[in-house]
Amino acid sequence: MNKVLDKKYPYLSNFFRTAIEQNRLFHSIILYGSNNYIQYAMAMEMARQLNCLEDGREDCNCQNCRWIRENKHPAIMTISKIDNKTDSSKTVISEDQINMVLDTLVNSSDYHRVFIFCDAEIKTLSYSEMQEYNEFVSTGFNLPQEKDEDKYWYSKGINTGCFSAVAANAMLKSIEEPSDKVSFIFLTNNKDDILQTIVSRSQAFYVADSKNSIYNVEFFKKYFEQYPEFDKDSALDFAQTLYTYQIENNLEPTYIIDCIQYYLTQLIKANINNSILVNKIYSDIEKTEKSKKMLNAYIKEQTVYEDLAFYFVK
Ligand SMILES: [Zn+2]
Repeated sequence: MNKVLDKKYPYLSNFFRTAIEQNRLFHSIILYGSNNYIQYAMAMEMARQLNCLEDGREDCNCQNCRWIRENKHPAIMTISKIDNKTDSSKTVISEDQINMVLDTLVNSSDYHRVFIFCDAEIKTLSYSEMQEYNEFVSTGFNLPQEKDEDKYWYSKGINTGCFSAVAANAMLKSIEEPSDKVSFIFLTNNKDDILQTIVSRSQAFYVADSKNSIYNVEFFKKYFEQYPEFDKDSALDFAQTLYTYQIENNLEPTYIIDCIQYYLTQLIKANINNSILVNKIYSDIEKTEKSKKMLNAYIKEQTVYEDLAFYFVK
């Protein structure tokens, strides 16, 4: 548990904690969204809970928790084009790095090994990036590289440019047949930026930007007035509203689904003590994930929106 993450992302925090306690966390996880610092904190918190020698509480001071907070744990590795390099390439996560990762898996370990894949650079932060950085610091974790004068390690979403198909494919076998006590966590802005063969073998979670200015919920909010009840007669109307808004504003259809997911995560925050409702919202978010998969499979937007609408009225 981490107070900052619990407060901002109650659904995800709770989901990961429960999955870790019940030992059913996927071996390969994708966190996607626009704020990569907070994704990094979430990945570190998972690593901490997976390795805590006590009960995983936030202020635990066991050796594993301490090392992970300091970002010095030997079994928790950040893999980027500038972290854990094994060769001189500067623009990509190289095959050589992947081989290093795979080599470490040959030996068994008492630790639950976690490999966090992201893109990263050392840079001066803009004002909004600085806010994201401060939010990260408040979670209690350290970055893989310390601040150097006014330059900070800055996490960026991984994409096929910095993580080539060749390097990614070298990992597939380990993702498909994972050893116990190994987790791969990929941080990205958009799932489409990760090789499809990895996406299809992973569990993906949308991490909404806590700054919340970019998701518009106004155009569909009225359909959720009686939520979880949904007016049967308005299903087609709802689907049409989504489609019209997308076309009129020249938006990506996945953005429309992002807005609905954002709205649902807000509902979780508002209803966090009502576990039955929270479970219902959680399954609705899963359904919206399926809508995105349909869109990625080039199914027509109208069909996807109607499918989603009829799911809600069921
Ligand atoms: Zn601990």
